Amino acid sequence: MRLLDEILEYNKKFVEQKEYEKYQTEDKYPAKKVVMLTCMDTRLVELSTKSLNLSSGDVKVIKNAGAILSHPYGSIIRSLIIAVYLLKADEIIVMGHYDCGMQNVDTNLLIKEMWERGVTSETFRILKYSGIDLKEWLHGFDEVKESVKHDIDIIVNHPLIPKNVYVHGLVIDPQTGKVDLVENGYDRRFNDAQLNA
Ligand SMILES: [Zn+2]
Repeated sequence: MRLLDEILEYNKKFVEQKEYEKYQTEDKYPAKKVVMLTCMDTRLVELSTKSLNLSSGDVKVIKNAGAILSHPYGSIIRSLIIAVYLLKADEIIVMGHYDCGMQNVDTNLLIKEMWERGVTSETFRILKYSGIDLKEWLHGFDEVKESVKHDIDIIVNHPLIPKNVYVHGLVIDPQTGKVDLVENGYDRRFNDAQLNA
């Protein structure tokens, strides 16, 4: 049986047997008032929240490849803004992880793969002349903690993110779930308050 058929068959039983009951939450608002940006890595599907004692209903989770905030007006920031203004999140966690596929992406290899799978030289030429630097766009990051700090910089300096939102940075070990603290948002707020005093 192919995957989609398998999924649909399982889903029928899941609903019939009321398996959903254990996942039901009070409402759409995150109970712990937190939104997290993390990586789409399969190892983090459950580990990213379970290792922090965050369950369904506690947290909004936004994911992409590498937990990278590449554009200050892209969909990630928009999701954070929605979480903060409409879903009452007042803390943001950016969580990168060690051994991430977006660290040192081999863009030459990736482009070669595209070419082998049918993307034509003409397409690459058009992109180049449209001012799109494909290698730069596909490149992830060199060092995960720096990448998390870069994300945080974009968030805390964003004109649409309220200044009373705490922004924390973590890096998780995808094997053990141990997190290293990269940025304590409470300290930043405290330091900012001192600077303005
Ligand atoms: Zn990753």
